[in-house]
Amino acid sequence: MTGKERRVETPPKKKTAESIAPADNMQQVERYGKMVWENQEFEAMRKENCMCHTCARMKPGESTNCGIARQFYKLCVQHGCAFILTRCEDWKEKYE
Ligand code: SF4
Repeated sequence: MTGKERRVETPPKKKTAESIAPADNMQQVERYGKMVWENQEFEAMRKENCMCHTCARMKPGESTNCGIARQFYKLCVQHGCAFILTRCEDWKEKYE
């Protein structure tokens, strides 16, 4: 290569919903009495990483349960969906 030649770089591939969540990760499962589509890879990630699972304010079934989590749960039951919480102003470390 001489000094005058120009190297053409291939731009990085833009991530699309398909490249992040391939269709073969999708499975129909029953959640809250509904058949829903679930991304198996992200579902495993959710269980390991959702901030609510490490938060002292998360007290399912108790009157002192987190109000934010209660609202998310209501939506999940209504539509059969699930969330991974990655940001929260009220998170408090749970000591077990
Ligand atoms: S305070 Fe935030 S992190 Fe904790 S349970 Fe509620 S929503 Fe989840």
